[in-house]
Amino acid sequence: LGAVKNVTVSFNLGKWFASIQTEREVETPVHPSTGIVGIDMGIARFATLSDGSHFAPLNSFKRQEKALVKAQRAMSRKQKFSNNWKKAKANVQKIHARIGNARRDYLHKATTTISKNHAMVCIEDLQVRNMSKSASGTTETPGKNVKAKSGLNKAILDQGWYEFRRQLDYKLAWNGGQLIAVPPRNTSRTCPCCGHIAKENRLSQARFECVECGFEENADLVGAINVLRAGHARLACAETSPAGWGVGPRTHRSDSCDYRLSAVGILVL
Ligand SMILES: [Zn+2]
Repeated sequence: LGAVKNVTVSFNLGKWFASIQTEREVETPVHPSTGIVGIDMGIARFATLSDGSHFAPLNSFKRQEKALVKAQRAMSRKQKFSNNWKKAKANVQKIHARIGNARRDYLHKATTTISKNHAMVCIEDLQVRNMSKSASGTTETPGKNVKAKSGLNKAILDQGWYEFRRQLDYKLAWNGGQLIAVPPRNTSRTCPCCGHIAKENRLSQARFECVECGFEENADLVGAINVLRAGHARLACAETSPAGWGVGPRTHRSDSCDYRLSAVGILVL
């Protein structure tokens, strides 16, 4: 639909792709839902919503990691540029493609579901790019806790948090919804029942128990509820402030805008 702006033909891991970008005028969509939801991002659960639902971890890389290591080892044993080496190399590429496809498919399904069901989505404004920076540091300031951090980095990258947020943002805009980023301060240690803030409230990675009032709940759900509350606070603030930060016309940096939406279709040839 619309005027073709450009066509990009690319070759990736043995397959050709044609990506066609078009432009057309559309009405600003009105989101069918009026609901607002908070999301807590985690390792054990990829995303927990404040309504109690959650998405299982992806871990596609972990599952495929062994197969990849095995294939890479087999390739290294072959004589370079021989026919057997080429076959082994194609196998390595096939596993890489499988990992990428599984991850993309999962993220798209999750972000489509969330952006259709909720008009406003609150998410922690985590600096994913900073969190996934090299844990080893520099020679002047060597990183602490390198092993644990790189494990976490890998899990974050594996689950594509940054991509998740990027997709949510533009899909919500397409549906007439809105993504609200809130500061992550104390979202994991505040009691949603009495408001008491203490790191002792968080007994373990999975369990939350308030030391003040005894309120008990899954820690990820508590995080999602607190993110939702922070989102509400931000909206209330935007309504009373003349600057109206957080609501109003959106300015887009990347691949979507308010009145003119670009549709990108991928065709496998
Ligand atoms: Zn409490």
